[in-house]
Amino acid sequence: MKRILLGLAVFMVFIGNAQKSETMNTIAVSIDDIKATVSFLASDNINGRDTGSDGIDKAATYIEKQLASFEVKPYYETYRDHFKVKALDAYNVVGFLEGNDPELKKEVVIIGAHYDHIGLRAKVVNGDTIANGANDNASGTATVLAMAKYFGKAKTNKRSIIFALFSAEEMGLKGSKHLAERLSNEKLNMYTMINYEMMGVPFTDRSYQAMITGYDLSNMGEVLNDHVGKELFGKSDEAVKYNLFKRSDNYAFYTQFKKPAQTISTCDLTNFDFYHHVDDEADKMDYDFMATIINDLFPAMEGMINAPTQEIKMNISND
Ligand SMILES: [Zn+2]
Repeated sequence: MKRILLGLAVFMVFIGNAQKSETMNTIAVSIDDIKATVSFLASDNINGRDTGSDGIDKAATYIEKQLASFEVKPYYETYRDHFKVKALDAYNVVGFLEGNDPELKKEVVIIGAHYDHIGLRAKVVNGDTIANGANDNASGTATVLAMAKYFGKAKTNKRSIIFALFSAEEMGLKGSKHLAERLSNEKLNMYTMINYEMMGVPFTDRSYQAMITGYDLSNMGEVLNDHVGKELFGKSDEAVKYNLFKRSDNYAFYTQFKKPAQTISTCDLTNFDFYHHVDDEADKMDYDFMATIINDLFPAMEGMINAPTQEIKMNISND
């Protein structure tokens, strides 16, 4: 009798898990997927994705093909949102996935990352001059593409999502500034903006996995932790010290929209030795870690995107 009951209980748990994890299992990001994206974007063939280079054109084309294959449509006539940096032709890559709720789909969540990097260096280090930018920010780009794949396949998003890959971040946050101004002029109804930066290497000395810049500016950290059911996100004192909130592509969205617009990152410059260095290479990324954290990020993003009300709010609304 005991045996049968136990067997039955195990069977019920098995069925329960199978049902619960059906979507997650089929849509979960794989280590191979992440590795393929980072390896392509950070390969020597792409020459460090400097704005205006042939390499960044190849990177943009790769991103466009990925978005199209996930059924994420171009936000404008094409995926490319063009702007100029002096004489250089630059372009963000911008995709769109409409929400499935008739009311909530009028509100938009922007998920972004810069895909440019600093290109070729004058100084030769061990025969290498290519700053490949694997952590900065092929890893963030791969994170956004994983989100695009997840929501493109699942189509569970009630709010609409813009997937934005920015150029010319390394030239002074130019791409995000251009797009934030453009979307603001077009009266976009933005709820939040989440920017991903340097997601390729874990912290080793924290209770949390990822930091959120400008942590105290909103309740984003607490709300997202609630959706994941654990302390995935935390506050980094280093990020406060270096004011990282103002040093990435979230900032232009905050200044234009005065809504929660923050960067999620697993690096605050204390745990990676190759920032803006030719050794920021694909083989230095921890793909096991990346796949694990991205799979944890899905419920955080999905919870926020599908919440019935705008639960993430600014605490302080000054500049
Ligand atoms: Zn960066």
